[in-house]
Amino acid sequence: MKRTLSGLIMECKIGNIAAQNGFDAVVNAANAWLRPGGGVAGAIHSAAGPGLLEECRPLAPIKPGEAVITGAHHLPNKFVIHCLGPVYEKDEFSGKVLANCYCNALKLAEEHKVKSIAFPLISTGVFGYPFKEGVQVAFTALKEMIPQLTFVRRVVFVVRDKSKLAVLNQELARFH
Ligand code: ADP
Repeated sequence: MKRTLSGLIMECKIGNIAAQNGFDAVVNAANAWLRPGGGVAGAIHSAAGPGLLEECRPLAPIKPGEAVITGAHHLPNKFVIHCLGPVYEKDEFSGKVLANCYCNALKLAEEHKVKSIAFPLISTGVFGYPFKEGVQVAFTALKEMIPQLTFVRRVVFVVRDKSKLAVLNQELARFH
């Protein structure tokens, strides 16, 4: 599904975050040490090659909610923006930290004149965030950032399967 809000194209699709041709930047659901690991970080590092880990080393560790930017190495993009999501706790703080990830990623994207960016749903894997809540935090954070976006014109959210896509599309349809 695709929607346009205040000139910003928002899209949801099934795919692999490490194979997003046509996007200036991809976002990594990173760990504090910016190392490969599983899930999104594993896919990104294995597709990008060892140069990414080399570039990441001096930037680590990062704190929950923070984002850092690197080159994309062998990925088909210009940049990787690495965000450390919160480990889910049933409190408001988790939501704030998760929202900070999206806001900080978008700020870095703007600073680097990124026009298009692909996000995974940060913290909804190993970090245990309930998927629908994670999507709602992402969309709310994005909406709050829209007035500050001048370069970023296209945002895609990438998920691995149909059931997650259905939730994303449902939330996107409600988004205004
Ligand atoms: P976190 O540690 O922040 O929870 P994960 O990488 O474990 O990060 O998962 C984040 C989300 O990304 C989960 O919904 C997971 O299913 C999804 N995911 C895992 N691998 C990929 C991939 N290659 N492309 C897109 N999404 C992915």
